[in-house]
Amino acid sequence: MTRYIDIADMQNLVMYHGAARMMAEMADCIREDFLRWDDFDKSPRTANHSVNGVIELMPVSDDALYAFKYVNGHPRNPLQGLTTVMAFGVLADVATGYPSLLSELTITTAMRTAATSVVAAKALARPNSRSMALIGNGSQSEFQAIAFMTQLGIRELRVFDVDSAATDKLVANLAPYANTGELKIVRAASIREAVRGADIVTTVTADKTNATILTDDLVEPGMHLNAVGGDCPGKTELQPSILLRSKVFVEYEPQTRVEGELQQMPADFQTHALWQVLAGIAAGRDDAAQVTLFDSVGFALEDLSALRYIHQLSQKLGIGSTVDLVPTLPDPKDLFGCATAARPPLRKAA
Ligand code: NAD
Repeated sequence: MTRYIDIADMQNLVMYHGAARMMAEMADCIREDFLRWDDFDKSPRTANHSVNGVIELMPVSDDALYAFKYVNGHPRNPLQGLTTVMAFGVLADVATGYPSLLSELTITTAMRTAATSVVAAKALARPNSRSMALIGNGSQSEFQAIAFMTQLGIRELRVFDVDSAATDKLVANLAPYANTGELKIVRAASIREAVRGADIVTTVTADKTNATILTDDLVEPGMHLNAVGGDCPGKTELQPSILLRSKVFVEYEPQTRVEGELQQMPADFQTHALWQVLAGIAAGRDDAAQVTLFDSVGFALEDLSALRYIHQLSQKLGIGSTVDLVPTLPDPKDLFGCATAARPPLRKAA
């Protein structure tokens, strides 16, 4: 049987285990897997583009586990009551191909993206970074805020979105942290105001265009930029000149070249692999005045890490169900017998 985690199961996991704890444990899994970089069979994701957005498939495997994620990006979806990003995925046993887990990945993607951002920021931002600007206050934003607060020690959050209702929602969702004094939330009147003096700047906006969320003049020496929203061809957030004065770190370079802020740069523009920094093979930040940029696009390995984490956690907490996704037959060659076996009562079509 295949373990099945739907949205209600994920809500239960979050309720019993806590989003902050899940993101911290997910970050450990991501770090562990990035340190085994060469064990994985990797490729850039396959993307099908359309006028409104993109639908992508993201596969990856090692010699034990195979994972894929289905994910979309449709920035105008909220106008019709759908989230911009929706995802689900599968974890399978490489030895047999048997799918061991079918899971929701919309909430999980927000957690794994924030966890990855923190893994990068821990390695690249100045130690003792305490303030973060958060530009784009949509679905991903609370996850980024909480992960940075609980794992990196961010104490002041300067928030801005062109949609003030999105900022209202973010402020309301983070009220429990603001009320205890753990987090000071400052509503900025502009991107410029949010970014001024921040240690870290996270951009997590959605628009299917080469937007200029951050201009060069806003970037101060020593800042760490966590650029999350530009993740597909023709969709970027930073003025190209920012990359020229930054040390740029990537997840998986062949994919980031096409999808990240990097798409604005010539093919020979130098990048640095995050996994090599984590492994101690390459240097991260060179000095306190350097601008570091994590050009995040989201890589399949992070989803494999998240899926294996969710699989273990759901088993440990006894949350989730099982489904007959593939047949288990008394005679594995008698698929026809399985197809024609009578199983009353007949299930009604939905
Ligand atoms: P969302 O639609 O829920 O939120 C995006 C927010 O950005 C909206 O509130 C919108 O008003 C705001 N925005 C748009 N243009 C802006 C501007 N010029 N200035 C300020 N705010 C602006 O989307 P989401 O799910 O939060 O995702 C945000 C982005 O992150 C998307 O582009 C998505 O594709 C990307 N993403 C990346 C990764 C990754 O791994 N790098 C993972 C998940 C999502």
